[in-house]
Amino acid sequence: MSSWNLLGKCYEKIPLLGSADLWGDYPYRIRVDPRSAIGALPAARLRALVGEARQYSFDFLAWKRAFVLKKQWLVHAKRTCPRGHGALVKEVLGASQRRSFYCTQCQVLYADD
Ligand SMILES: [Zn+2]
Repeated sequence: MSSWNLLGKCYEKIPLLGSADLWGDYPYRIRVDPRSAIGALPAARLRALVGEARQYSFDFLAWKRAFVLKKQWLVHAKRTCPRGHGALVKEVLGASQRRSFYCTQCQVLYADD
């Protein structure tokens, strides 16, 4: 099974992961550049991504119930890195044309090559 299939299964189990505009915080939480190729992620980072997404979906529901979701975003729609690294990069990425916000200093880019 390829790592892509692993994540695909995760998507099915966690519908919220596929919802528009909520992707932004996952890569930041696990310090992975959102431009990374999924297949190039080390297994440990991929597990972290899947695990974080699962946790985030639980958090999401709790926050949504409490009407505080927007206040919980770390980088989504923010201008600066909460870890103190200055300005975030804002970019529209992928086929889904999601807006992504990321920090080039604390998020690592893993690329296929
Ligand atoms: Zn940062």
